[in-house]
Amino acid sequence: MDIPRIFNITESAHRIHNPITPDKLATLGAALRLEAGARVLDLGSGSGEMLCTWARDHGVTGTGVDMSQLFTAQAKRRAEELGVADQVEFIHGDAAGYVSDEKANVAACVGATWIAGGFAGTIALLAQSLRPGGIILIGEPYWRQLPPTEDIAKGCLAHSISDFLTLPALLASFRQLGCDVVEMVLADQDGWDRYEAAKWLTMRRWLEANPDDELAQEVRAQLTTEPERYATYTREYLGWGVFALMLR
Ligand code: SAH
Repeated sequence: MDIPRIFNITESAHRIHNPITPDKLATLGAALRLEAGARVLDLGSGSGEMLCTWARDHGVTGTGVDMSQLFTAQAKRRAEELGVADQVEFIHGDAAGYVSDEKANVAACVGATWIAGGFAGTIALLAQSLRPGGIILIGEPYWRQLPPTEDIAKGCLAHSISDFLTLPALLASFRQLGCDVVEMVLADQDGWDRYEAAKWLTMRRWLEANPDDELAQEVRAQLTTEPERYATYTREYLGWGVFALMLR
């Protein structure tokens, strides 16, 4: 079981697989007023940077579940490196339907809400692992500017304009789902650059090392077109944020 190999190639050097930067991840951890010993569940935990740094900085404990074997291995190494391997565990597996026995103070899905068919389903899933009064974290894109045409939405690699909401509409959706929005940390264009542009050097180096790989042509094509596509579409039109929610 694994995610499509192309992501394990293009994001192999990422510590954070999202437009949030280390600074903003730290800002979010502080904003949540985490207490030592608090338990964090992270579905789609990637390379584990959120859990590992929060364990180091705030003394939280927790579990991450991720379908990428590579990212899960990187997360375990990061936990060792930061000296928090006794506080956090990383499970390689499908997070769809994952409910933890031990209920969490914070239940998160940061940039992987497709695991439960979108943010509404993911909120319902995370709620099943949450202690009363706990916080749900959802990391999700939104339109910074509403694309004027469907072609522009496709340029952002969305299927259609309706894939995402504007920021006010996204916040309204959370309210309509019975959640108080109690905090948020939003990415900016520099953060998007860290996430997207970091893939380009990784792809270039991978191509030099793997010229005969079956994915070489696909990676070559992406490296050739991605900088301009990204600058024309995603960087202008897509925002991204992590939203902290409490059920009413
Ligand atoms: N939250 C992390 C990773 C976000 S990228 C971060 O912010 O860095 C999305 C992640 O979802 C990837 O790590 C990918 O491997 C993982 N993923 C995709 N489908 C999944 C599934 N069904 N179950 C668990 N993880 C999944």
